[in-house]
Amino acid sequence: MIEAIGVIGGGQLGRMLTLVAKRMGYRVTVLDPQEHSPCGQVADEQIVAPYDDLRAIEDLGRRSDIVTYEFENIAIASVRHLEQHGFGVTPSSAVLAVTQDRVAEKRFARDCGALTTAFASANGRQELDAALAAVGLPAIVKTVHGGYDGKGQWHLASRDDVSALDGAARAPAIVERLVDFACELSVVATRDASDRVIAFPVAENEHEDGILRKTIAPARIDGDVAGRAHETAATIGRRLGIVGTYCVEFFLTRSGELLVNEIAPRPHNSGHFTIDAMPCSQYEQHVRAICGLPLSPPHMFRSAVMVNVLGDGRGDHLCGVESLLADPSIVLHVYGKRHAVERRKMGHFTMLVDGPIDGAVLARAQAAHKKLFWA
Ligand code: AMP
Repeated sequence: MIEAIGVIGGGQLGRMLTLVAKRMGYRVTVLDPQEHSPCGQVADEQIVAPYDDLRAIEDLGRRSDIVTYEFENIAIASVRHLEQHGFGVTPSSAVLAVTQDRVAEKRFARDCGALTTAFASANGRQELDAALAAVGLPAIVKTVHGGYDGKGQWHLASRDDVSALDGAARAPAIVERLVDFACELSVVATRDASDRVIAFPVAENEHEDGILRKTIAPARIDGDVAGRAHETAATIGRRLGIVGTYCVEFFLTRSGELLVNEIAPRPHNSGHFTIDAMPCSQYEQHVRAICGLPLSPPHMFRSAVMVNVLGDGRGDHLCGVESLLADPSIVLHVYGKRHAVERRKMGHFTMLVDGPIDGAVLARAQAAHKKLFWA
């Protein structure tokens, strides 16, 4: 019987996961190098250690009946270590090996029968030139490992931009053809150990400079596209053999093709709306899946617009909350991070409405966002 959950990574995803796990009666230990992490603030205890400290990882394993993680850029060796020493851990290191490597991830998506943008891998400057020639311009060059929120990415509109690629020329890179998409979509889903997959409504995402700003759920797409997105996400989850909540991000092209961009083996920023708009959130589904409990059918009470609240470097105090919450349709989540560094995800709010999301709702959400500022 599972009574104690270990979480590698102490950020906001771990925090929201832990808040649910605590409500459900579990004991939670988190491992994160930063003391008093957002997740550590709400967990029973925190082990302060780097993610690749195998002794600390083993300590986490000993204190937990099952270990999971809240972000995918942890060392695979840490997850493997737990597996080899008989500790329960999910998702597995095999899942991580696919999702940590942008090239392996895109090949895997294609093996599952999904489409992706044209891509080529490149190790070093010469291969980069050949990959760019094969893929064509405009293109995006990304580091194969470790990038997130637009970090480790370079946009190339013309051959002249290639000179800006010094960083990418050294690290293993993927060159992707830039997609002129109609919109970005994501499917957050949960798979349990008996191969049941439950997907949340498709979400529509707006990014700026590679970082998620806003999610609209359900996405404003027709049923056929939603069906294809759900089917692809379920196939990917099953073929990965993942146990837990995961996310598949897509581009919807102007001609109606769905291209897989990324797979995240964990709850996802674009699934935050499920906390306030559904009876069982992506975090609770994850807890249920990893603890062997039944998954809950996805039922949406209301439509949602989720807006990320980012730091801007001007101060660490969030102001305007009183004015924001004067709108009763808004629920605010703040992650407990001390410094509101520019572009750092500090919190989010969800606006809940009856009926579909239209221009008026989006304008209201934007006006609400403008009420918040840092000082
Ligand atoms: P990623 O880290 O791959 O999720 O990229 C972050 C964001 O950058 C995506 O959500 C898109 O907005 C943009 N992006 C990444 N790859 C591409 C691409 N091949 N074509 C167009 N936009 C992209």
